[in-house]
Amino acid sequence: MPTPFLSVQGLSKRFPGPKGSDPLTVFENVNLGIEKGEFVCIIGHSGCGKSTILNILAGLDEPTDGAVIMNGKEVSGPSLDRGIVFQNYSLLPWLSALKNVTFAVQARHRNWTKKQVHDHSIKYLEMVGLTGGAELRKPSQLSGGMRQRVSIARAFAIQPELLLLDEPFGALDALTRGSIQDELIRIWAGSDQTVFMITHDVDEAILLADRILLMTNGPYARVAESVQVDIERPRVRADIIHHPDY
Ligand code: ADP
Ligand code: MG
Repeated sequence: MPTPFLSVQGLSKRFPGPKGSDPLTVFENVNLGIEKGEFVCIIGHSGCGKSTILNILAGLDEPTDGAVIMNGKEVSGPSLDRGIVFQNYSLLPWLSALKNVTFAVQARHRNWTKKQVHDHSIKYLEMVGLTGGAELRKPSQLSGGMRQRVSIARAFAIQPELLLLDEPFGALDALTRGSIQDELIRIWAGSDQTVFMITHDVDEAILLADRILLMTNGPYARVAESVQVDIERPRVRADIIHHPDY
């Protein structure tokens, strides 16, 4: 069997407990394979370890045991091959929304001109509906939903091989969420990008994912059986079949 694009091998994570108490085992011996271009959603109770696993995939945290292999290389440390939307947005507070995006784009494409970086960044800010002056405001001058949209624009704009999304639409109203989900699917379908997304919304997982991973709760939690989503996406299924009797 060829090694998948992203391979999680025997991954365990323990956090030291508060002084005098036992360490917390978040998960143990998790094994996962994700193919290039796959859209995987992970669902599970709050606190079961979803963000922890995503942070390890991102190279922002280290496993206690095991390894993450991407493209045949062990992940160690962050890289712009992996774009992230964090649960808490993680924007640079002293930079405008626009500069938060251009900063990341420039780092990704060091040979691009200022104008290329600017135009590319604006395209993604438009995609999330953040223009008309809002892009010039700093994170503290934006609403929670707007900050989340900046974070989404930043992650998409660097066009990473692996997009890691930690509850990316949680702060958005239903209308905005729907339109950004549409954009996400459009971008993903037209690329060979791999997406690993955390959500607590089962409907959203069914709508977006090729495959859903269910993470079980409690100590010794593991990523349980993955559920293949083999229904067609509702957007694909939207042809209306006219019944001759009606
Ligand atoms: P989820 O994203 O599924 O809601 P998390 O991955 O954020 O869950 O957290 C899993 C468990 O690990 C929780 O019990 C949380 O309190 C604990 N945890 C997360 N980060 C740390 C940390 N840096 N130190 C100690 N415990 C942590
Ligand atoms: Mg989380």
